[in-house]
Amino acid sequence: MRYVNLTNTSKLLLNHIGCHLLLIPAFMYGEWWMFLLSFLWWQVIAIISISGGYHRYYSHQSFTANSWYKYAVNFLGIFSGAGPVLTWVGAHRQHHAHSDTEHDPHSVSYKGFWHIYLNIWGYDINLERKFLKGIIRDKTVRWFYENYFKVNVAVIIIFALIDPLFLIFGYALPVVFAFHGYSILNTLGHKDRNPTNTWIGNILTAGEGWHSNHHDDSKNYQIGRTWWQWDPTAVFIKLIKHD
Ligand SMILES: [Zn+2]
Ligand SMILES: [Zn+2]
Repeated sequence: MRYVNLTNTSKLLLNHIGCHLLLIPAFMYGEWWMFLLSFLWWQVIAIISISGGYHRYYSHQSFTANSWYKYAVNFLGIFSGAGPVLTWVGAHRQHHAHSDTEHDPHSVSYKGFWHIYLNIWGYDINLERKFLKGIIRDKTVRWFYENYFKVNVAVIIIFALIDPLFLIFGYALPVVFAFHGYSILNTLGHKDRNPTNTWIGNILTAGEGWHSNHHDDSKNYQIGRTWWQWDPTAVFIKLIKHD
C-alpha cells in the first residue's frame, strides 16, 4: 500500500468545534489581559512546538537538538489541536513534494479556499508512506501518536479542574489561534500556484509567513531573511540548536 490514513477525523473535529464554542464564555467572562496572556502563551507553543518542532525540526530536520526538545514539541503540540507530529509531518512533506499540484494535500488552487481554511483537508488525509520513513521509527513520535488523545483529554480535565477560565484561555484559545494561524498560512501562503510571503499569516504562526522564502530553501530554519521579516522561531532555534 502506497498510502496510509492516520487521521482521527471525529476527535480532531470535535476538539476544534468545542474550542471555538468556548469563545462564547471567553468573551462573556474573560478580561482583556487574559486574551493577551493567552495570545503570548500561543506564541510560546507556536515557536517551540508547531513552527519550531513540527515544522522546522521534524518535517525538514533543519537543525538538531537535545532529547528534551522532542518531548516539549510533542507535548506542547496538544495545545495546538493540530493532531500528532506523525500525521502533520507526513502531510507537510507531501505538500512540499507536490506543492500547487493536485497531489498537494492543501492546495488552495485545486481544492478551493474554504476546503483549506476550514481544515476539511486535514481531517481526512491519505499520507504517502514514503514521507513517513524515518520519523515512524522515532519512539517519542510513535508514543505521542498512540496516546495523543489520551494526553489531550487529561490536559482538558486538569485545566478544567483548576479553573474553567484556565481551560478556556490556557487551552481552547491557543487551539483557536493555531487553527486560524495555519489556515491563513495555508490559504494565503500560495497564490496563482506559487508560494508567496504573507505578513498576515506570519503574525499568528511566529515566523512562518515568509512562505516563499521557505519553499526556496526548505532545509534552512531561518525563514525570515531580512531584519524586518519577523521570525521569532528562528531566534529560538539559534538558542537551542546543537552545532
Ligand atoms: Zn507551501
Ligand atoms: Zn515546510
